[in-house]
Amino acid sequence: MGKIRVLIAKPGLDGHDRGALVIAQALRDHGMEVIYTGLRQSPVQIAQAAIQEDVDVIGLSSLSGAHKTLFPKVIEALKERHAADIPVVGGGVIPAEDIPYLMEHGVQRIFTSGSSTEALATYIKQLVNPEAEKLKAPEKIAHIGIAVKQIDQALSFYTDTLGLELEGIETIETEGVKTAFLKIGSSRIELLEPLTTESPIYRFLNKRGEGIHHIALEADELDERLNTLKSEGIPLINEEPKQGAHDSQVAFIHPKAANGVLFELCQHPKGSEA
Ligand code: ZN
Repeated sequence: MGKIRVLIAKPGLDGHDRGALVIAQALRDHGMEVIYTGLRQSPVQIAQAAIQEDVDVIGLSSLSGAHKTLFPKVIEALKERHAADIPVVGGGVIPAEDIPYLMEHGVQRIFTSGSSTEALATYIKQLVNPEAEKLKAPEKIAHIGIAVKQIDQALSFYTDTLGLELEGIETIETEGVKTAFLKIGSSRIELLEPLTTESPIYRFLNKRGEGIHHIALEADELDERLNTLKSEGIPLINEEPKQGAHDSQVAFIHPKAANGVLFELCQHPKGSEA
């Protein structure tokens, strides 16, 4: 298949296009053909240019705050010209609360100021070439890890007070921890007790005291997922999967990627009910 063709356009009146030019260059670096319309284009001009240039996707950038009127107008103009099949993605300065409105009005995806150009490029490739392998979003919280000094002391709150069922106790020698799993629906609470002063849980308790340590997300295709995260510049604690509890493979994402929250990605062997 030929190069992916992308139209980058700035509808409306805002007079800055440095961001749009950076995105255009980043997509070219990913091997795409990028057409940039320049500043101050009307929705109709953008739709016409997209059809004329036979692009695979339109990227709209807006800094002016007028995205809620302008983005839907571009989609309208495409529909009127029987070109509603050209997907539209948006970015720029767009408050999170406007995203559902824009999606309802036909925008495929909004990239916020925290998104990387790598994530945008990956998304466009998948959008244009849907048969390419696509990673699903994690489907559930596998467990929430809670650091405790002693499982024996901590357990009664979970079993007696909350009435949760203790599913099992497991020692993970490589991590220097003892874990207790308590079932809650199809998720679990994982109590973590350090066994040695080398354990990351020991260091966590010393620094922050007892409390929530991490959130684990159920995630299949872990190797591929880690490669994608790496290519998007997401800081990882484990670049390769390692052995976790219940025969799972796990890897941790650095908390600086997620507002101070330590996330674990956790893949259970196929067929296990975890
Ligand atoms: Zn965990």
